[in-house]
Amino acid sequence: MVPGKFRAIIIGGGPIGLAIANGLDRAGLDFVILERYPAIASDSGAGIMLWPHTDKTTTRLDGTPLRSSSIFKYLSDKFVPFGSISHFSFTKPQFSHGYPCMNFPRPALVQTLFDGLGAAKTKVRTGANIDNIEMTEKGVRVHLHDGGIEEGSIVIGADGVHSQTRAIMQKLAEQAGDDFAKDEDPIVSSYQIMYGRAKCLPNAEIGTFYETHGTYMSSQVSADKKRMHFGIYRKLPNPTTDLKKEYSEDEVAEFVEAFSDVMVMPRLSFAELYKNCEWTKLVNQPEGLVKRWHYGRIVLAGDSSTMMTAAAGMGVNNGIQSAVLLVNKLYELLSVNSEPDTQAFERVFEEYQNTRREQSQRICGLAARMIRTNTWDSYMLWFLGDVVFPWLFSDEKLIAKAGTDLLRGMYKFSFIEKDLQSGKIPWLES
Ligand SMILES: Cc1cc2nc3c(=O)[nH]c(=O)nc-3n(C[C@H](O)[C@H](O)[C@H](O)COP(=O)(O)OP(=O)(O)OC[C@H]3O[C@@H](n4cnc5c(N)ncnc54)[C@H](O)[C@@H]3O)c2cc1C
Repeated sequence: MVPGKFRAIIIGGGPIGLAIANGLDRAGLDFVILERYPAIASDSGAGIMLWPHTDKTTTRLDGTPLRSSSIFKYLSDKFVPFGSISHFSFTKPQFSHGYPCMNFPRPALVQTLFDGLGAAKTKVRTGANIDNIEMTEKGVRVHLHDGGIEEGSIVIGADGVHSQTRAIMQKLAEQAGDDFAKDEDPIVSSYQIMYGRAKCLPNAEIGTFYETHGTYMSSQVSADKKRMHFGIYRKLPNPTTDLKKEYSEDEVAEFVEAFSDVMVMPRLSFAELYKNCEWTKLVNQPEGLVKRWHYGRIVLAGDSSTMMTAAAGMGVNNGIQSAVLLVNKLYELLSVNSEPDTQAFERVFEEYQNTRREQSQRICGLAARMIRTNTWDSYMLWFLGDVVFPWLFSDEKLIAKAGTDLLRGMYKFSFIEKDLQSGKIPWLES
C-alpha cells in the first residue's frame, strides 16, 4: 500500500477507466470515476474480443479468471477467397499463451470490471458530466455540469474518442502558451461501421467468428448462446474529419440496402440478420494517434489518445495495456514520493506516453492494414490478404506470429504477485 493524499480523478467509466480504477484499487491508491451516463453498463454495446494478454492482466486482478459467454478458440479450418466467407472456426482452446481469447458483450465486460472494484464501487459517480478542469500547483479541480466539484491530484481522461478531457487539456496548454494542439495530425475516418446485436439464429455456430471480405466492404459476426454481435464495414467515398457524424434514417436505410445480399455467414444474409436485430448503430470509425497524451496533471488513456477501426479487435486490448503501464508508473512514483509535484507527474506521464505511443502505433498500423486488406483497398491487398497469406500460412501460424510479435511482451501489474499460466509462446517478463 502506498500511503499519502494521492487521488486520481478518472473521467469515463468505460473499459479503460474501469481497468485503471481496478489497478489503482489493487495498488492501494485512491480514485474517483466520473461517468456521464446514469449507469455504468447500458443494454447496448459491441461484442468485444479479449486477447490472451488481456485475460492475463485481468486474471491477475483478483486471481480468478474472467468468465465470458463464449471462449474463442482460434484456428480457421477453411479459407474461401473471392468475396466469400472465411470461417474462423475456433478449435484451439488456449491460443498458445495459456489464456484463451474471449468474447464479451460490452455491457458484460464493463459490469465484470465494475464488479472487480468490490467495496471501491462507491468511488464510481454516474450521471457526472464534466464541464471544466482547473489545474493548480498542488492538484486538479474538476467542475461538473450539475455544479459539483471533485478535487484530486491528477486527471486521467478515459472518456473515449470524443474526449472532452483531451479538448480541455489542449485548451489549458494553449492558454499557457503551449499550443500543442496545432501540431496534432487530424483524426480521420475512412470507414463507417454498422454494428449491432441480433438474437441468435439457428445457423450460427457458438464461439465461431465469421468474416467476409469484399470490394470496399467487410463483415465480422460472432455468436454466443443468446446473441449475435456484428460489425459491417464500408469504405467512405471520401475520408472525413467529421467524427461525430450522425447518420439519418435514410442513410441507414441506404446502408442496409447496399448490404442486403451479402452473406455474412453460410446460409445467413445480412438482410436476415438485420431483421433479427435488437439494436444497431451506424458510425464513422476514426483512425489515428494523438501526439501529446499529457499536459501538467492531465493524462489520457484508451480511445481518447488512440483510435483505430474495430477490424483487428484491439481497442480495449491495447487500452488496457496503457492502463497497466500508467498505474505501474504511478505506483512506482508514489512509493518513493507520496506527494509528487506537477513536474514529477509530468516526467512519469512523458515516459508512459513515449512507451505506449510507440507500441500503440504498431497496433494501429496493424489495424489499418487489416481493414484495408479485408476491404480489398487495392488489387495487391486483395491478392496478399485473400490468396497469398492463406496459401502460405495457416491461421494458426498467423495468429502465433501475432502472438509472438505483439502480445507476449505486454504488461502486467507490477505490484500483484501471481504465477502466470503460459503456453507454447512464453510471456516475456515486463
Ligand atoms: C463494433 C466495435 C467492435 C469492437 N470490438 C473490439 C474488440 O473485439 N476488441 C477490442 O479490444 N476492442 C474492440 N472495439 C474497440 C473498443 O470498443 C474501444 O477501443 C473501447 O471501448 C475504448 O474504451 P475507452 O474506455 O477508452 O472508451 P469508451 O469505451 O468510449 O468509454 C468512454 C466512457 O467515457 C464516458 N464519457 C465520455 N465523455 C464523458 C464526459 N465528458 N464525462 C464523463 N464521462 C464521459 C462515456 O460515457 C464512456 O462510458 C470495438 C469497437 C466497436 C465500435
